[in-house]
Amino acid sequence: MIRLFEYEGKALLARNGVPVPSGSLFPELPSCGGRLVVKAQVLSGGRGKAGGIQFATNASEVGAVAATLIGKTLGSALVESVYVEECLDIAREYYLCAMVDRDDGQPLILASPEGGVDIEEVPAEKILRRKVDPLIGLRPYVVDEVVRFLAPPEEAADQLRAVVVALYQALEKEDAELLEINPLVLTAAGLLVAADAKCVLDEDASYRQRAQRRQIDGTPFEVAARNLGTIGIEFEGNIAAIMNGAGMTMATLDQLVSLGGRIRALVELHGAMAHGPERIAEVIRLVNTLNPKVLLLNFYFQFRPLDTIASGLHLATQRGWLPPTCRVVVRFRGEREQLARSILKGLDCTVVSSFEEACKLTVRHATTAADSK
Ligand code: GDP
Ligand code: MN
Repeated sequence: MIRLFEYEGKALLARNGVPVPSGSLFPELPSCGGRLVVKAQVLSGGRGKAGGIQFATNASEVGAVAATLIGKTLGSALVESVYVEECLDIAREYYLCAMVDRDDGQPLILASPEGGVDIEEVPAEKILRRKVDPLIGLRPYVVDEVVRFLAPPEEAADQLRAVVVALYQALEKEDAELLEINPLVLTAAGLLVAADAKCVLDEDASYRQRAQRRQIDGTPFEVAARNLGTIGIEFEGNIAAIMNGAGMTMATLDQLVSLGGRIRALVELHGAMAHGPERIAEVIRLVNTLNPKVLLLNFYFQFRPLDTIASGLHLATQRGWLPPTCRVVVRFRGEREQLARSILKGLDCTVVSSFEEACKLTVRHATTAADSK
């Protein structure tokens, strides 16, 4: 999945014929005069409520507002850029979306006269859902249905028709999974304009598209994990676990959770082992920035050497990357196990070979009162 920032999404919509406000990425300013809207560019929605949408009337105000936004976090996302647009004089806000329905494997058009709010908050009867047969395409009667359902003023009906058609064609042409306009604004002057854009493209189709800047969602931890060549997922519990392979990762997650454990983070090494103990140590360091109470290293290797992991843990300990408050449980089984265990001798960790035992011990440590190590 490739998520686009709002400004990238609007460029996509614009090149497919959907009208968007004139805008530029700060510090550039749009050429229009008058009131401006300053929008934090993060991949999550709900920026309006979180203070990520501000207004300004001139360049120096834009600069001041941008300075308050850039470098701040909105939800869990760091604001790295700000988009400046002409401020629309809003008469009405609609919701319009074209997406591929995964359950159906078919495109779907969603429309609501209640735009501008989170679509999850809109009652079902206020949302029109129409499947589209991809082999037939979007039929005019479906477009008419959308227009009737949104019931814009007479003079905006043709504009709306054109936007619905353009949006559907863009979904197809751009290999998008989701193109959502919320709100689609009718201005006081009677123009229909996409005031926001949420676009998700199908990553598997990227070979068909011109080079796209890839944006994948994630917390700073998850992004840092990716930069180490691993897959990291962050939660709110107190157990961190490092494994190799998706199967082992899922099994460990299931086991820990079924024993009553709460996960702080999971890291699937995903080939990072090829970079040696240094990289393993970096992963351990990263995981410990989340302050887990217990760190579980769960490895059953039939082909790879366990001592790479052991050396990584050894390095991390030497460098002080493991806080003394964090208990470490290691499950080692398989290739070069004896060597791996000998590397861990003298380190403050418990080494076991059974999967169940390792998970039980981990959960027990995580749930025992206080931080008495
Ligand atoms: P989101 O909260 O992340 O979905 O950001 P949006 O771009 O959808 O903006 C949220 C809300 O801010 C919109 O529903 C509008 O009510 C308001 N807003 C955004 N752009 C404009 C604008 O140009 N003019 C006015 N008056 N309001 C705007
Ligand atoms: Mn929006």
